[in-house]
Amino acid sequence: MKFDTKVVQCSLKPDPTTGSILPPLYQTATYVLEEVGKDKGFDYTRSANPTRQAMEEVLAILDGGEFGVAFASGMSAVDSCMKLLKAGDHVVCSDDVYGGVSRHFNQILVNYDLHFTYVDSSDTVNVENAIQPNTKLIWVETPTNPLLKITDLEAVGKIAKKHNILFGVDSTFATPVFLQPLEYGADLVMHSTTKYLSGHNQLIGGVVITNREDLFDQLKFVQKTIGAVPGPFDCWLTILGIKTLDLRMKKHDSNAQTVAEFLESHPKVSKVTYPGLPSHPMHMVAKEQMSGFSGMISFELIGGIQAGKTVMNSVQLAKLAESLGAVETMITHPATMTHADVPQEERNARGFTDGLVRLSVGIENPDDIIADLEQALEQT
Ligand code: PLP
Repeated sequence: MKFDTKVVQCSLKPDPTTGSILPPLYQTATYVLEEVGKDKGFDYTRSANPTRQAMEEVLAILDGGEFGVAFASGMSAVDSCMKLLKAGDHVVCSDDVYGGVSRHFNQILVNYDLHFTYVDSSDTVNVENAIQPNTKLIWVETPTNPLLKITDLEAVGKIAKKHNILFGVDSTFATPVFLQPLEYGADLVMHSTTKYLSGHNQLIGGVVITNREDLFDQLKFVQKTIGAVPGPFDCWLTILGIKTLDLRMKKHDSNAQTVAEFLESHPKVSKVTYPGLPSHPMHMVAKEQMSGFSGMISFELIGGIQAGKTVMNSVQLAKLAESLGAVETMITHPATMTHADVPQEERNARGFTDGLVRLSVGIENPDDIIADLEQALEQT
């Protein structure tokens, strides 16, 4: 089956009892046993739920993986991957990860004797140079949030294999429509399903996909033991979202390309970062490993932070909001919103200025998105 057929059919069979075309919503905490020791495959929803299982299977298939394990948020999915490690272990991590991820690593996990080195993984030499004898995981985000840095996954996959280190990829921005990290040797693919996968700003969720049964068993154990699980209704809503994923992503991608080209040619814009622009330093790698560039753009204005704030306060169609990857165009000020907990020196070291504006391009008509940005830019 082609990918766009797969997302619609979702490998889901009609419900055997009623013929319902959608999987039933099993909104239940527990299951009645026929007798002691005899259940129907489910005993308690923290351990497993049929609606959640349907979603996990669908998400695994889309990433070309065998196993999916769902969590209550993208952050709990990241955290569960870190639960594969032990005290004393070291992680090499992309430097420009989502601010919530570095906050988790630097303010919580370091207290449990886990160690992190951040490198610009768009130069894979940095990744290999950062490996220590106790390095157990390479964690890459590509494209990154918010600077849209691209990492060559094939090269990092080879480094991970050579050193026998786990390789995890946060593929939230790319989605399985445009990138299949397992093909490049990733052991773990993580998504915040809050974003494109569910797609309508309707829930918070996360998932980890793997082809390795040993990792799947460990993640299932973490899932049922810690219990950061998504509710059945959120899983059901995610299944609905997935059915239009391919269609939405192609529109996000073409809209973002049009908007990025508009911004790049605007005299008040000093810098535009979008992996689909030839000016992006890793455009060729993105083109090679992704089949589209997705819907996220970041840009800076000639007037710096003041001009950026004026634009963000002046847009009307675009919504000033945290989050990304939904049908509505959203604009964000990373320095005070999504990445407020990343210390300023660290942001500066990454090349992430206070004037940076992040745009999640929605699926509206691109002329309307551009007209909105144009009138907001005129205010500066
Ligand atoms: N990873 C990336 C790249 C993100 O952008 C986010 C949230 O913005 C997360 C992980 C965390 O996901 P969630 O907000 O679902 O916990």
